[in-house]
Order: sequence, then C-alpha cells, then structure tokens
Amino acid sequence: MNCLFCSIIEKKFPSKILYEDKTVIALEDKNPQAPVHILLLPKKHISTVLEAKPEDNELIGHLFQIANKIAKDRGVAEKGFRIVMNCNREAGQTVYHLHLHLLAGRPMRWPPG
Ligand code: AMP
Ligand code: ZN
Repeated sequence: MNCLFCSIIEKKFPSKILYEDKTVIALEDKNPQAPVHILLLPKKHISTVLEAKPEDNELIGHLFQIANKIAKDRGVAEKGFRIVMNCNREAGQTVYHLHLHLLAGRPMRWPPG
C-alpha cells in the first residue's frame, strides 16, 4: 500500500514530528494554513472516517486528547483553536489516511470555506 502518512509513521519519509506514542503521531503540516497547523494521525492505517470501526473509538478519542494536550502546550487552548477532519473529495481530503488538523493562532471564519 502506498500511503504518505504510513511512510511518515515508519520514518521512511522526513517530517517534523512533535509528539509520538504507541498509537498516534503529531507533526507539523508542510503547508500551514494558520500559525499553528498540526496533523494528528493514528499509526493504524484507516483511510477515511467512514472506515473507522467501533473498535477504533478509543484510538480516535486518544487523538482528540493529544490534540488537547498540544493546544495547551502551544498556549492556544484559552484563545481557541479548530479541529478539522476532511472526508473524501468534496470536503478536500487529499491524503487518505485519517487525520485531524489542529489549527490556531489566527481568528477563524465560519462557515469554513
Ligand atoms: P487533507 O487535505 O485533509 O487530506 O490534509 C492533508 C494535509 O497533509 C494537508 O494539509 C497537507 O498540507 C499535508 N501534507 C501533505 N504532505 C505532507 C508532508 N509530507 N508532511 C506534512 N504534511 C503534509
Ligand atoms: Zn496510511
């Protein structure tokens, strides 16, 4: 299987890893859309949220806990941040390995574009 994020997780492709544990990894987005733009990925390959199974609930909950921790560590938790998960083409998903975007450091508009 040819997956960019699996290659990053396996350290076969360079990236700026900020956090790693047994099940998840967080890294700097290479094309940041805000002063803070961090990607959080499960190490398990799940292509989109549509493929997430009930047995992945703990893993996906853990992703949010790590997003919280990073938001606090970066000092953006109080001011605010946005967590985004794109699913499929019309939502703008370009890498088919489930991930959260943690965006912060500037005012965010609503509705998103
Ligand atoms: P999405 O469009 O929701 O699938 O998000 C994919 C994200 O991965 C985009 O924000 C890209 O900028 C980011 N990205 C693509 N390649 C890399 C890479 N090699 N290292 C870090 N981020 C990447
Ligand atoms: Zn993958």
